[in-house]
Formats: sequence, structure tokens, C-alpha cells
Amino acid sequence: MSKKDKENNKDKKLLVILGSVIILLALIAGIVFLYMNETKEDDEKTLAYTDLIKEMSYGNIEKIEMTVGSTTVKVKMKNEEEEKTSIVPNTESFMELVQTKVAEGNEIELIQKPKSILAQIPSVVISLLPTAIMLALFIMIFKMQGLGEKGKVYDDTERKTKVTFDDVAGLDEEKAELVEIVDFLKRPEKFVKMGAKIPKGVLLYGKPGTGKTLIAKAIAGEADVPFISMSGSEFIEMFAGLGASRVRKLFEKARKLAPCIVFIDEIDAIGSRRTSNSGAETENNQTLNQLLVEMDGFSSEETIIVLAATNRPEMLDNALLRPGRFDRQITIPNPDLKGRLEILKIHSKDKKLSEDINLESIAEDTAGFTGAELANILNEAAIIATKMKHEDIENQDVEEAIKKVTVGLEKRQRVISDKDKKLTAYHEAGHAVVSKYLPTQSNVKEVSIVPRGVAGGYTMYKSDEDKYYISKTEMQEKLIALLGGRAAEKLVLDDISTGASNDIEVATKIARDMVTKYGMSDNLGPIDFQGKEPYEMQMFGENIGDKIGQEVKTLIDTAYNDAQTLLKEHRDKLDAIAQVLLEKEKINEQEFNKIFE
Ligand code: ADP
Ligand code: MG
Ligand code: ZN
Repeated sequence: MSKKDKENNKDKKLLVILGSVIILLALIAGIVFLYMNETKEDDEKTLAYTDLIKEMSYGNIEKIEMTVGSTTVKVKMKNEEEEKTSIVPNTESFMELVQTKVAEGNEIELIQKPKSILAQIPSVVISLLPTAIMLALFIMIFKMQGLGEKGKVYDDTERKTKVTFDDVAGLDEEKAELVEIVDFLKRPEKFVKMGAKIPKGVLLYGKPGTGKTLIAKAIAGEADVPFISMSGSEFIEMFAGLGASRVRKLFEKARKLAPCIVFIDEIDAIGSRRTSNSGAETENNQTLNQLLVEMDGFSSEETIIVLAATNRPEMLDNALLRPGRFDRQITIPNPDLKGRLEILKIHSKDKKLSEDINLESIAEDTAGFTGAELANILNEAAIIATKMKHEDIENQDVEEAIKKVTVGLEKRQRVISDKDKKLTAYHEAGHAVVSKYLPTQSNVKEVSIVPRGVAGGYTMYKSDEDKYYISKTEMQEKLIALLGGRAAEKLVLDDISTGASNDIEVATKIARDMVTKYGMSDNLGPIDFQGKEPYEMQMFGENIGDKIGQEVKTLIDTAYNDAQTLLKEHRDKLDAIAQVLLEKEKINEQEFNKIFE
């Protein structure tokens, strides 16, 4: 996190703190009010001291509650439901009196409570409360408006610590494409003389954590220009109209600092398709319109490059993609094997790695991981190594970190009933056995019924080398593997549980994509149905929604049946693996494969 990010966070934190203070003050005021009301003497609920002594000598008192430093005591009579309060002139002598009564054989329960916190609040503070609340409110409003004024600018001192392309691993092609932008920022006249039009905006598409922000900063670092950044979600919060004015201010600042980079993260938050006219949408439109105006407004000599990032390109308004705006789009992919290795190298530079660590094999094991996840894994591994008091980071620490990042922390302390254990064992064994008989599915690496994160157990697969295409057969078999857990529960326990909810969620998404995105349904054919507005769907016929639903259901039903058939056929293996899991909680690759020999 850079200093400026931190500063901005500080602003947010301040807001949160102020907000909390106000709520707290209001709460205290409320409690004080209630408390005062309660102590206000109410005829029905009070008991004169003389009556209290009288009742006590009759043996009618069941319980007395005293608070240190207070002359008000609570009294519960034997024949009455409600408690009464009474004022005692001298608490010490009263307590002695009660104690002698108890010693005489009266059954009086005497409770002594510590001084209540409220009683300790000086009345001065209470009287100052309203003023304090008003003051806090003023400061908060002031702060909120102040936020609108701010753009985060990296001044010269900070710019020197900036990121360069060397900090961005992999992404060679993407970097090569962006070098041009760096060149332009450094020597704009060269391009202008040649009559070249340099793009004003570059859109970076990619999943969270793939390094979009990093590469944007690296461009600024390489060109040695200021980096002004804002996140789309910041534009749309709080007051109406603020979004547009912030965009204006952002570009005002950019013009002053040019040549520079303006980075808009999560641009989908302001740049979503303009569809309806609901309140939030209108606000968005104003912000988006302002952004378009600003981008059209500066000339290419002004040397401002707007970089924007999103992980939902399909959401963006087409107006953003027109020439002169974000006319260049670069996809930032998840790193491939080589990229992952480079990222691991960069992020392990300042870490103490043991000799036994093999970054190549970690890279092989982490297909599909983003740069942020890989950085996170190495960091977690360092934390684990420290906790385990290892000399340096060992291979097992990294393995544990991978599991922690993917399935969550192991929770050995949690007490699990035998019934749950059996259910989990069969569920996980179900996934594992089914996968074993599906040619396209990866080999099982480990099965465990020790809870981790929110999962009751897990089946880990060895990740294959990166794939660019996935076949229909592979997706169908993936569905079978996913539903293997539920199928085993049904088959063995003749009952099903909530444990399969995540599997079902993933399976449904895959099946839906097969039908609506990849055109894999024979009945509907290769048509893209995804993300279409209802009126767009109409051209495929009235009941197209029903048909899609039917196709998705068929895929799922077939997979579920196949899973059950496989498990019935190999019931002995299922039982054997579940048995090992119940005994040892975990089964590794070798032990697992042995059962099938
Ligand atoms: P995004 O903006 O795409 O969500 P970030 O740029 O914020 O991702 O990446 C988060 C962190 O992950 C970076 O600060 C960096 O530590 C690490 N990271 C991501 N991609 C890479 C990469 N290609 N090379 C080195 N580190 C990376
Ligand atoms: Mg980012
Ligand atoms: Zn499962």
C-alpha cells in the first residue's frame, strides 16, 4: 500500500470513527436517559425504609440487591413478582442488619454489585453530551465535503519509490504493448511531430489480483510521471451529484500535473450500461457523462493517459469504448506456468526460503492462481514458518499456505459429532471415487475430513498444466465429480445434507455456462444467451427461458445419475476410503491409489 492510499484510508477511517463516536454518544445519552427514568421514584415501586425493615422482620424479603456507593437498593418480596426500590439512609449499617437477619436464619439473598459505570460518569460530561454530538456532526459533514475535493496525487518524493516493469512478473506481451504509452509520456513531442495519435485511454480487463493496478503504477513509474488514482466505487457513494464533480476535480488536477496517469479502478461501478432511470442509475449516468466529457475534452497534446481497470468488461457502456476514449483494451490474464514462477521469484526475494523449496513445483501446483494469491501464499507460508518456529520457510509451510488460501484454515479443535464425521467422510469419498473413474478429471492429491474454513472437509486434486480450452466431455465429467459428494450421501445414508451447497452452486454455474455461453446444448445450439436483456432474448422465441432452464436441468440430472451409478458400481471402494477417513481423517495420494490396485 502506498502512502497516499494509506492517507485516503485514514480519511475513511476518520469518517468511520466519527460515525461510531456519534452513535456511541447517542447510545450513552439514551442509556443515561433510561437510567435516570428508572431511578426516578415511582410510588408503586418504592418501599419506604421503615416498611423495608418491617417486612424484613416479618421474613417477607427474598432478595436484596445493593450497588456499591449507592443508597438505592432493590428489594424482591416473597409474595410479589415485581422488585421494589428503597432508599437506605446508611448502607453499612443496613448491610449489617441484613447480615444479622441472615445469621438468625432468615433466607435473604444479598447481592452486592460493583459501582455501575454510569454512576461514575460525572454529571458534567452528561451535560456536555448534546454539544459534543453537534460538534461531531459538524466535523463529519465538513470531512465528507472535503473528501470530494481530494484527488490522490503522488508527489515527487513518493514517485521515486515507484513500481517499475521489473516488479511486474510475466505479462511480457502486455508490457510490450504498454511500453509505447511510457514512451509517449516521456517524449510526447516526438509522436506529435510524426502526426501520431496516441490513445487517450487504455482499459485493462482481468480478474481481481492479476496485477492491473500494479501494471498501471509501473507505467507511471517507468515514465516517471505522477499517478493519480481513484476507484469507481468511490465516485458513487454519499451525496448526489458528488460523483460528477469529483470526476471534474480529478481531471482538473490531472491537467495541472500533466504529463501524468489517471487510474480509475473498478470503472464498471460508474461505467455500467446506461439502462434504466432509477435513482442510483441516474447518479451513475451523471458521473459517466462527466467522465466522457472530460476524456473528449483534453487534446492529445495534453499528455494525460487514462488507465482504467475492470473485471467485468461485459458490463461497460459502449460509449466508453468509442474512439478517442478507451479505444485500447488489454486483457490481463491469470499467469501461466512461467508467469507464476516469475511471480513466485519476485515475491520470495525478501523471504528466507529453505533449501528444500522448489518454486517450479509450487508454480506447477498453482494453476489458475492470480499474482495476488501467489504473493499471499508466500506471505502465509512465512507466517506459518514463524509460528512453527522453523529456521526458514519449508516446503510443508508452503503446502499448508496453499491449503489455507484455497480452502481456509484447518480447524482441528472443532468438535464434530460421529454422525457428521460419517457424512463428511462419505461425501468427500464420493467426490474422490467418482473422479477416479472419470478420465478427464485430475488425480486426487489429498482427501480430508478435518474442517477447514467453512468447508467440513475437502478433496484436493493435482492441478494439471494450464489449459486454454475445456472440452464438453470434460465439463460433463466435472459435473459428475462435483455431484459425487451429494450422490454418496444419498446412496449410503439415504439422506442428503447442506454440505453439498457449494458443489451445487459451482455445478449449476458450469451447466448454465455450457448452455448459454459455450453453446454446448444440442437442442439450443451455439448461441450466446448470456447477459442479454429480456427483449433481446425474445428473438429466440417466447419460451426461451424455459428451454434454457430445461437444458441446464438435464445436464445436472444426468450428471447426478451418472455419479450415483458409478458409486453403486464401486461401492467397495467408496466404503474403503470412507473407512480410512474415519480412522485417520486424511488420506494422501499414495494411500488413495493403493485402494484401487
Ligand atoms: P488487480 O489490480 O488486478 O486486482 P493488483 O495489481 O492490485 O491486482 O495486484 C495485487 C498484488 O498482487 C500486487 O500488489 C502484487 O503484489 C501481486 N501481483 C499481482 N500480479 C503480479 C505480477 N504479475 N507480478 C508480481 N506481482 C503481482
Ligand atoms: Mg486493483
Ligand atoms: Zn463436496
